Amino acid sequence: MSQHCAVEGCDSAAHEPPHVLRQDPDTYQLVFGVCNFHREQLTNPDTEWMVDYEGSGSQRRRLLFVGTDVRQRLRDLNEYLLLEEPTEVTVYGAGRVFSHPTEDGHHVPLRVRRRGGDPQSMTLVIPPEMMAELGATLLVSAPPEAARAAYSGLRRYLAPSQDRPGRG
Ligand SMILES: [Zn+2]
Repeated sequence: MSQHCAVEGCDSAAHEPPHVLRQDPDTYQLVFGVCNFHREQLTNPDTEWMVDYEGSGSQRRRLLFVGTDVRQRLRDLNEYLLLEEPTEVTVYGAGRVFSHPTEDGHHVPLRVRRRGGDPQSMTLVIPPEMMAELGATLLVSAPPEAARAAYSGLRRYLAPSQDRPGRG
């Protein structure tokens, strides 16, 4: 008996051989039986797809989304990917005045892409009293090598000015 295509909402028959999905050649593989139409879509490296898991234990089900369905599903996640490392933080001080003092702060220009959308620029404004907590939270959650690099950068920054490289 032939199986249905694994793409959610597709009623076509899955054709052999099953399709192998990879994020990149080094990651684990996901194997799905799909129809020829979806095999062609999934073979295009520009195609966005998403595998979601529903339920748990023996009831666990993999849901594969691709094509028109996936963009809205990705947008619904309301997640923004950071595309470039932020390299500057601007404080306007008295150069700009807003009605509510709690709605001003450090301006961090970011290049982001909403999942399912196109790249865009935005500026995150962080109230000064939230800077320390945000920095600490990011540092604690960072992979160890990133945390070490940030800590070593911080130590240089906090060192007396005569010890800073490139100065004096
Ligand atoms: Zn299909």
